Amino acid sequence: MAMRDYNSMLDEDFRQEVRQFFETHYPDHLRYILRRARWAEMKQWWACLYKQGWVAPVWPQEWGGMGLDASKMMIYMDEMERYGVARPPDQGVTHIGPIIMKYGTPEQKAYYLPRSLSGEFIWCQGYSEPNSGSDLASLRTKAELDGDHYVINGQKIWTSLADDATHCYVLVRTEQNTRKQQEGISLFLVDFKTPGITLRPIKNLAGHAEFCQVYYDNVRVPKENLVGELNKGWATAKALLSFERLAIGSPRRPAYALQRLEQVARARDLFADPGFLDRFTVLKLDIEDLGSLYQRFVGQMKRGESLGSDVSMLKIWTMETWQRLTDLLLEIGAEEGVLEGVRDFGNESTPVDVDMLTSYYVSRPGTIYGGSNEIQRNIMSRYVLKLPV
Ligand SMILES: Cc1cc2nc3c(=O)[nH]c(=O)nc-3n(C[C@H](O)[C@H](O)[C@H](O)COP(=O)(O)OP(=O)(O)OC[C@H]3O[C@@H](n4cnc5c(N)ncnc54)[C@H](O)[C@@H]3O)c2cc1C
Repeated sequence: MAMRDYNSMLDEDFRQEVRQFFETHYPDHLRYILRRARWAEMKQWWACLYKQGWVAPVWPQEWGGMGLDASKMMIYMDEMERYGVARPPDQGVTHIGPIIMKYGTPEQKAYYLPRSLSGEFIWCQGYSEPNSGSDLASLRTKAELDGDHYVINGQKIWTSLADDATHCYVLVRTEQNTRKQQEGISLFLVDFKTPGITLRPIKNLAGHAEFCQVYYDNVRVPKENLVGELNKGWATAKALLSFERLAIGSPRRPAYALQRLEQVARARDLFADPGFLDRFTVLKLDIEDLGSLYQRFVGQMKRGESLGSDVSMLKIWTMETWQRLTDLLLEIGAEEGVLEGVRDFGNESTPVDVDMLTSYYVSRPGTIYGGSNEIQRNIMSRYVLKLPV
């Protein structure tokens, strides 16, 4: 496909093109789904994006990406969210792909990047362990050199969509007794077909098995699968997080919950109740604040500035606003709000189909993943407010 310079397009023209593409091609039944989309249901959409050359918006065109700058990427994400386009199992594109581009060997780039783009390789992230989540640097899964291989032993947990993945990028300890915990950690690319790997799915609160425990029992990984320098995996794994931090703080999810709340409230005449009106107004204004905060960080990205520790504020505010909205949604659903599945909360003239319980469930882990809100508050107090530790 001929390369196109999307960045020189007018923002509005680019937005229209993206919008039209999503509206024409994205499957209707997968809009606004309230769970992580699985590979089996997304692979046709992936193939459609691949054919269009749109799987990897920020990858350079040299590697088959769209080569979007931050400003155009924000439009792309905005349109995805506006139309309710689900995130496919895309960690190969969003996370490990860019890490391979930055730290990988020429062989790693040539082997992994095209396959991750085409959907032949689906990736998951093997960082957290049963006793190492917030305190990730204390991880204990280890890799020891044996001839041309590293032998991995240990256990990972909360590995999202591991049972859809063909590969995992795994943080392991390659040196014990280091001065600092962050030292002696390395990043490896692991093919899930390698003998010794066992997956055990875990069901979340909503009953969906979206993550797994992954056991490594003498898993032999070729030493060429090390990414970046040995024992320096901490810095490698933490690189390139700014887009992720911004994406996680997008106001779209709370804004969508507010829209549903408003529809139900109108259909049920709740705005006549001053108590409800008061709570609704507070939430609506909180979303306005969130929108301004988000735009401030987007502006920084657009100007090519890196994001500072204050971006933690965005994650805290987004996730907590979202949770308060789904709390209220559940509350106004009364006894019907706690029933599973999509239900009609409207009246005879205006049906309003909402799955209140699932909306409530999916907002719960928002304060845990991507670095828990308590940890974000620690970051704020230490690096932004400079409070004593
Ligand atoms: C939906 C979901 C998907 C996930 N997907 C992945 C994935 O794909 N790959 C992966 O590797 N991991 C994944 N995780 C794991 C996630 O990164 C961890 O759950 C998170 O880092 C918290 O770690 P923990 O669960 O061990 O909790 P802990 O670290 O044990 O924390 C427990 C509680 O203590 C608080 N706490 C801990 N330390 C401090 C402190 N110093 N100060 C104040 N409070 C503190 C925490 O905020 C939390 O409330 C996922 C988690 C969720 C919920």
